[in-house]
Amino acid sequence: MTKFTDLNLNPKVLKAIEEAGYESPTPIQAGAIPPALQGRDVLGIAQTGTGKTASFTLPMITLLARGRARARMPRSLVLCPTRELAAQVAENFDIYTKHLKLTKALLIGGVSFKEQDALIDKGVDVLIATPGRLLDHFERGKLLLTGVQIMVVDEADRMLDMGFIPDIERIFSLTPFTRQTLFFSATMAPEIERVTNTFLSNPERIEIARQATASETIEQSVVTFKASRRDREGSEKRRLLRALIDAEGDKLTNAIVFCNRKMDVDVVAKSLKKYGYDAAPIHGDLDQSQRTKTLDGFREGSLRLLVASDVAARGLDVPSVSHVFNFDVPSHAEDYVHRIGRTGRAGREGKAITLCSARDDKLLDAVERLLQKPIPRQESPLSFKSAEVSEEPEKKSEERSSASKSSSSRSSSSSRSSSSKAAAPKAASAASSSSPSSSSKSSPSRSSSSKSGSSRSGSSRDSKVVGMGDHMPSFIALSFEERRTA
Ligand code: AMP
Repeated sequence: MTKFTDLNLNPKVLKAIEEAGYESPTPIQAGAIPPALQGRDVLGIAQTGTGKTASFTLPMITLLARGRARARMPRSLVLCPTRELAAQVAENFDIYTKHLKLTKALLIGGVSFKEQDALIDKGVDVLIATPGRLLDHFERGKLLLTGVQIMVVDEADRMLDMGFIPDIERIFSLTPFTRQTLFFSATMAPEIERVTNTFLSNPERIEIARQATASETIEQSVVTFKASRRDREGSEKRRLLRALIDAEGDKLTNAIVFCNRKMDVDVVAKSLKKYGYDAAPIHGDLDQSQRTKTLDGFREGSLRLLVASDVAARGLDVPSVSHVFNFDVPSHAEDYVHRIGRTGRAGREGKAITLCSARDDKLLDAVERLLQKPIPRQESPLSFKSAEVSEEPEKKSEERSSASKSSSSRSSSSSRSSSSKAAAPKAASAASSSSPSSSSKSSPSRSSSSKSGSSRSGSSRDSKVVGMGDHMPSFIALSFEERRTA
């Protein structure tokens, strides 16, 4: 097995690694460090958690240990898609450079221009930045990129998702042609392939297979789901999600709800909020300040439910997430492991519940093949047979808002708010009546609407039938269709 001491790293870097408690290099480190130290371009296909940050910082520091920065001309550049990731990279630099005299500046939103300008004016060895902020500084004439010897692009697929690729291409063209490039992405979308073909020169390609095993501390289950009618699929699935959340009660301290599509991220978050759940969405189309606010809230515990797309949640490091819900079975089986790995971290217990509609069976098969074992099935707390005869007024407004969302989210939310008031109690009653235990802690507004819902339960057919005890004639639970044929 490769040891750090075999890798030709600067002795002061080795000392810092030892103090950080690392025993041996991870596969991406063992693969990327040697060619990077030889000055070659590197294309690393690896995701967060593989040790990829050190795989580019350690050789960079070793290469930069000799030489000195000149005013306004950083010697190296690390581009990160988000401010949080840039800050994490900067922290890594501080750990590994503790015995070296290297300087760095961080160009991200929320850090004052003035302070960073002063650092850059003096000259920095390492400049860590988000693309937009870097170009702002450049355009203000505060920065020259002609001294960049090493350029790192971290999480390129996320840059793509956030629309940063044109900025990245521009930054590439502002740096010297002779620079060394270390480029990292979790996946190789065609657009990323194109960028690497254009800007990397004969790179060493290192691909780290995604983790295929899930932590033993995660309790996994699948709830199969069949909508009573096709046009009700969305609203019934959201109702099932609410019932599953309620069923977990106080055991659910916080959760990430993953959706396959950005549009669903918005719809599910809005729907949860409408029902009084403490939820917020995160995906690549939201602006950075909103994303940061949401993530900070989730990390600090002031936000309970984070509804996310795969790419937006990548790199999100929240040590204690009690639950993960897959609103959809992920289209790529590896994403399943990645998603559920957000819970059960560092030996903690976690629970991952996947909603699987009939048409997602194939995707679920792929996940189980990857895991090499079946995921236990959990019974749905709801029955959509009875839902078939129920009216669900919330559905129409929600579906409508999802359709109009892409054109105008503001108008859709305002148009929905009036109809949602009327709709909420009834559907909430359905969730509360069918869930084994609802969590009062999670949402005061939800429990109050549940109360009003149960007082109307006689009129709502998807609520428990009141007044017949256990002797409900079976035909009452049948749908109109079934009754006709019975
Ligand atoms: P990353 O993939 O860069 O986000 O790294 C994930 C975590 O692994 C970070 O907390 C690092 O501090 C840690 N780490 C990186 N390299 C090693 C290593 N060789 N041994 C142990 N931990 C490491």
